[in-house]
Amino acid sequence: MDAEISQDARGERTPALSRREFVGTVGAAATVAAGTVLTTKTAEAASAGVTVQYAMLIDTRRCSGCQACSVACKAEFDVPLGATRSWVEYVEKGAYPNVSRNFLPRLCNHCSEPLCVSVCPADATHKRKEDGVVVIDPDVCIGCKYCIQACPYDARFINPKTGAADKCDFCLHRVKEGVVPACVNTCEGKARIFGDINDPNSEISKRIASNPVTVLRKGQGTKPNVYYIGADHADETDATNGQYVNVTTHREQAERR
Ligand code: SF4
Ligand code: SF4
Ligand code: SF4
Repeated sequence: MDAEISQDARGERTPALSRREFVGTVGAAATVAAGTVLTTKTAEAASAGVTVQYAMLIDTRRCSGCQACSVACKAEFDVPLGATRSWVEYVEKGAYPNVSRNFLPRLCNHCSEPLCVSVCPADATHKRKEDGVVVIDPDVCIGCKYCIQACPYDARFINPKTGAADKCDFCLHRVKEGVVPACVNTCEGKARIFGDINDPNSEISKRIASNPVTVLRKGQGTKPNVYYIGADHADETDATNGQYVNVTTHREQAERR
């Protein structure tokens, strides 16, 4: 996908949460819904401060496009209407009678070389050393939108409630409590697997080792940490191959370019 600024996600800047309020919000882990417990090894590795890179593997063969993940994410963070941290693209390819329609769940890739971090003039966003999660401090963000422009995955938006940049944070408040992210927990088809890819014995590492996987827009050099199985339609060269590709996103009808 090309990076486009979401018009409908733009909002006026309002006083952001104070750092204390933000920490309090994140710390309100009592609100964490019941969910699948992370593998003990992964949780232990995280709490021990071992270098961890959290990642997600999405098996598109198991995705029915039901949007349960999108709804769970929206509810988990009370994301305002017109904005989203998680969405599912409907990808139509080909020409009759050789046509296909597939589903591509999307979220921030928690890149190892995140362009969003390098452009931020306020140091409001960074990649956590302890687990590789790319986070935003809304108390520091000045709402300049540089990161929104820089992200090749259209993963960020301005939260109209805080006036700060926002995006998926891999549900850190849940992960810290040892449960998987909301979108993983709610996925009916078990299409999403979350864990530490630096742990060769984690479920995600084993699945990645035993399946052909891809990442989105590899040529951007951001080294995404969201992997896909069966996402042949994720190849941005589709359009240049002369194939008809129509992508219905959470924001608008868009042709992949
Ligand atoms: S997907 Fe975009 S917002 Fe997320 S880490 Fe990568 S560049 Fe940053
Ligand atoms: S919108 Fe916020 S997080 Fe993004 S670049 Fe500007 S200050 Fe940094
Ligand atoms: S990991 Fe959490 S924040 Fe990220 S898409 Fe899933 S539910 Fe939303």
